[in-house]
Amino acid sequence: MRVSRLSLVTLRNVPADAEIPSHQLLVRGGYIRRVGPGLYAYLPLMWRVLTKISAIVRDELDKLGALETLLPQLQPAEPWERSGRWQGYTAGEGIMFHLEDRQGRRVGLGPTHEEVVTELAGDLLRSYKQLPVTLYQIQTKFRDEIRPRFGLMRSREFIMKDAYSFHCDQADLEQTYTQMAGAYARIFKRCGLDAVGVDADSGAIGGAASQEFMVMANAGEDLILSTPDGCYAANQEKAVSIPSSAQALPAGEARQLDTPGQTTIEDLCAANGLSPDQTVKVLVLLARLEDGRDQPLLVSLRGDQELNEVKLTNAVTQQLGSPALEIAPITPEQLRQQGLAPLPFGSIGPDLEDASLKGAKSWTSRFHRLADPTALDLERFVCGANSPDQHRWGTTWTSLPEQIRSDIRNAKAGERSLHNQEQVLEERRGIEVGHIFQLGSKYSDALEARFTDKDGKQASMLMGCYGIGISRLAQAAVEQHHDEAGICWPVSIAPFQVIVVVANVQDDTQLALGESLYGSLQAAGVDALLDDRSERAGVKFKDADLIGIPWRIVVGREAESGRVELVERATRSTSTVPHQDALSDVLEAVRPRR
Ligand code: ATP
Ligand code: MG
Repeated sequence: MRVSRLSLVTLRNVPADAEIPSHQLLVRGGYIRRVGPGLYAYLPLMWRVLTKISAIVRDELDKLGALETLLPQLQPAEPWERSGRWQGYTAGEGIMFHLEDRQGRRVGLGPTHEEVVTELAGDLLRSYKQLPVTLYQIQTKFRDEIRPRFGLMRSREFIMKDAYSFHCDQADLEQTYTQMAGAYARIFKRCGLDAVGVDADSGAIGGAASQEFMVMANAGEDLILSTPDGCYAANQEKAVSIPSSAQALPAGEARQLDTPGQTTIEDLCAANGLSPDQTVKVLVLLARLEDGRDQPLLVSLRGDQELNEVKLTNAVTQQLGSPALEIAPITPEQLRQQGLAPLPFGSIGPDLEDASLKGAKSWTSRFHRLADPTALDLERFVCGANSPDQHRWGTTWTSLPEQIRSDIRNAKAGERSLHNQEQVLEERRGIEVGHIFQLGSKYSDALEARFTDKDGKQASMLMGCYGIGISRLAQAAVEQHHDEAGICWPVSIAPFQVIVVVANVQDDTQLALGESLYGSLQAAGVDALLDDRSERAGVKFKDADLIGIPWRIVVGREAESGRVELVERATRSTSTVPHQDALSDVLEAVRPRR
């Protein structure tokens, strides 16, 4: 491809809305253009990158015997209602774009494809003899993200590879899951990414085992906790650890404490010479459940611990038997709307009476009470006394109503690992590029995807599902491979592997040698660019750096003697060599390696 024909528009200035380097560089390098919030056009250079990533993904999945398909993006509501997700995905989190067609039928734009593919599998796969099967597709997904940001990292329309596997039994599911984990590791390596697999929460999708693949980068939205020995790595959403031990309260009778204006743990501790791990803090929250209940929660944590919202959501969902769609602090305004008296926020204890909910307009009128083990394991502690400016010193759990013991705290860096107490957790940020789940029979039960087993009995198929964010992966590669001058694409996914820059196109010798090198590269099957623009050489070099082509051959003044400059983008190593040597060096460097 000739740069003069590429419609290439590069920008010198950093676009105002681009916060992280990879987003800035993709816009500046003419890879993407914003069309609307969370909506991007993939320009020709970007499409080449996405096509190359997709080819690597296809190659690895095809090797596992997976079958490529393409399913509708516009999906009827019915299967989503049968799986129980329509309500949560439209009204709840509202992640699914949904609409009515001209006949008044409800449809949604697919944020994911479990429903469609499970119905299809139930239809096609009838006997154990047909299993296992893995279907995959590479296509656009739609999600009305609350906070689309960072360009392709979190957009509202993005490209995903999603795969779904169907099995007779758990052992077979586990085998495919393990093979898929291996394929993922190879895919990310071949794309030039340093990615690690971590334990993950299964989220709204449901199911048991799940692993995320994280590209470590400061711009990542996820916090990963791992041990130096590499034996444990988990998303903070899911991570567990041994909490630091608490300091015991000094001996003394239980008593009431006057705590004027001390409404935070910090103030309470400062004013009374306490340490936060000697206190229990109580959060008053409201859970909106899928079955329509609005359930008030009283959540107790040791004062030095942070609430983990994902763990809390999972615990509440499990304990109350209906998915928690949203959990948020109860506000004074909400209490007024429910016709309830104000609560003594800042002085609430685990025994706040259910009477304070009596007469609520639409809420359940009893608290669901749960407490983290760090709180429950305190023998004596300080906590709120349920009246303003009053706390209690030396309280024990025996004097308080029963709590459901639930791990709902964040594990943190510096804490010891459960698998080996010698290992201390470290934290890093990561970008989630892939996620694999063992779904089990959640969807096949709901959508009646059954098969006849060896004994002639009907059984639900077991399922796995496996995603890779193709467009997010492309940007994650830039986040991992760039410098101040621009992108440094890994050869395997670069839009072009080599760029031949003719320093002065007015010089016939330079132009002829440039054309000849370009022709030889193309003949050898290399994706090559020829910068034949009549721009100044400096402009062309800047653009080549910015768009990040891994190898550059500069045909300049020494073209007379047949010599050219060969530059490796990532290392900037430069040599001036006879043009034949530049060609053979480049051919060797870009040869695909597995
Ligand atoms: P996240 O936790 O980042 O919101 P998710 O867990 O909802 O992602 P999955 O449903 O597992 O994502 O989707 C599979 C993959 O699709 C993710 O691993 C990620 O790489 C990619 N992905 C998910 N949401 C987006 C998005 N809004 N924009 C770009 N890529 C995305
Ligand atoms: Mg995920």
